[in-house]
Amino acid sequence: MSEDRSTAIIVGAGPAGSTAAYLLAKEGHEVVLVERGTTPGSKNMYGGRMYSHALNRIMPGFWEEAPVERPIAQESITFLSGDKSVSIGCQNMGWAADPYHSFTLLRAEFDAWLAAKAEEAGALLACGIRVDELLTDGGKVIGIRAGEDEMLADVVVAADGVNSILAQKAGWAKMFSPGQVATGVKQIIELPAETIGQRFQLEGNNGAARLFVGDCSKGMQGGGFLYTNKSSISLGLVINAGALQGSQAKLCDIIEDFKSNPHIAPLIEGGQVAEYSAHLVPEAGLAMAPQLYGDGMVVVGDAAGFVLNLGYTVRGMDFAIASGEAAARTIMEAKARNDFSRQGLSRYKELLSQSFVLRDLEAYRKAPEFLENQRMFKAYPELVAGLATRLFTVDGSPPVHLMKMVFGQIKQSDISLMQLVRDSLKGAIDL
Ligand SMILES: Cc1cc2nc3c(=O)[nH]c(=O)nc-3n(C[C@H](O)[C@H](O)[C@H](O)COP(=O)(O)OP(=O)(O)OC[C@H]3O[C@@H](n4cnc5c(N)ncnc54)[C@H](O)[C@@H]3O)c2cc1C
Repeated sequence: MSEDRSTAIIVGAGPAGSTAAYLLAKEGHEVVLVERGTTPGSKNMYGGRMYSHALNRIMPGFWEEAPVERPIAQESITFLSGDKSVSIGCQNMGWAADPYHSFTLLRAEFDAWLAAKAEEAGALLACGIRVDELLTDGGKVIGIRAGEDEMLADVVVAADGVNSILAQKAGWAKMFSPGQVATGVKQIIELPAETIGQRFQLEGNNGAARLFVGDCSKGMQGGGFLYTNKSSISLGLVINAGALQGSQAKLCDIIEDFKSNPHIAPLIEGGQVAEYSAHLVPEAGLAMAPQLYGDGMVVVGDAAGFVLNLGYTVRGMDFAIASGEAAARTIMEAKARNDFSRQGLSRYKELLSQSFVLRDLEAYRKAPEFLENQRMFKAYPELVAGLATRLFTVDGSPPVHLMKMVFGQIKQSDISLMQLVRDSLKGAIDL
């Protein structure tokens, strides 16, 4: 075992780990950032868009040098039902101007860039090393073991993503059920930049973010996403693992059906699949959060379950970055007092509560439960698409006033009026 002791060993060079490493190294602390992939980002996947606010606080104007793809100027959510679809969209050119609201990014490039920033600041980046064990002394975490190698530190930061081995080894993780996670699959489909611009009616290098509900998940809890990169499209699905387990369907078949959906096929026509990946998403929010800190260790990002999926937005990158920042600030204060005990690291939770991380997860605590409602993924998309079709159809039939049309459509649907009222109220309160 090396007797050298660094201030922090950070396990995982995703956005959470690299942010913590960057901030600590910038202040002159000895930091080792350990990553199992051959390069940071090589094992990482996500949908495709990062909200800018968290990183912009730490590195103002980061987009000037970071490998960002397109700033998002167009958002939409589309309900798919058979050959019908209804979209609610919003275009805001202000989002695609300084201070840019969000960007599409490719993780292999972005994660490598962020880890390189940590290295430039003085962190030691060690790739191709998988951490297997925590070293403990009297219940306190004092380091890590990777194969034959052991390393010591004042504090270990578990930034090892969903299903964190470190949180499990510490005995801090809760057992989660399949219903608390989703499985995501994604394809990166290459297309010329001009084709993307024309198909999505984008100005300059602006980008589009589109979410889909309904047929794309075969009525299961989940949905589809499409993000435009510079010269590729990120297209995929996120489906609740519990729902998937209970069905006969295979994700690889569902994504092929999604690609051939008449609303998607024209957008990706002629494109070449350059990448195919799959990953778990922690979806139960605070209900699945592990113990966040203890003697000698803090847990950040996906390892802590910090992801918010509201159906119309998916956020994890900004939570990862802000929790990495909170961990770094906690460790700096703990170092000044030379107190890495549970008490000494309790500041982490205070900082998370002062930032948007715990505030937003607390505010949307009931959202995961709301999204378990099966009606959201089949009956409502059918109702919305059916109603819009009636509204826009002119075929010489006798006129029907709007109210009667709405009630007529509800009557024909699988949803009772009481359910509609209850779901609307619950949605308005929980989301
Ligand atoms: C399908 C899908 C779509 C998503 N869409 C979005 C989106 O559009 N926008 C958004 O903001 N968020 C999205 N997310 C969530 C987002 O990807 C995560 O919240 C974010 O990546 C969390 O960052 P992290 O640093 O905590 O973990 P990760 O990015 O998972 O990084 C963990 C790192 O730890 C490394 N590691 C793991 N175990 C070990 C070990 N034992 N030893 C050494 N290294 C290890 C991994 O290789 C990895 O590099 C999506 C996620 C999925 C799966």
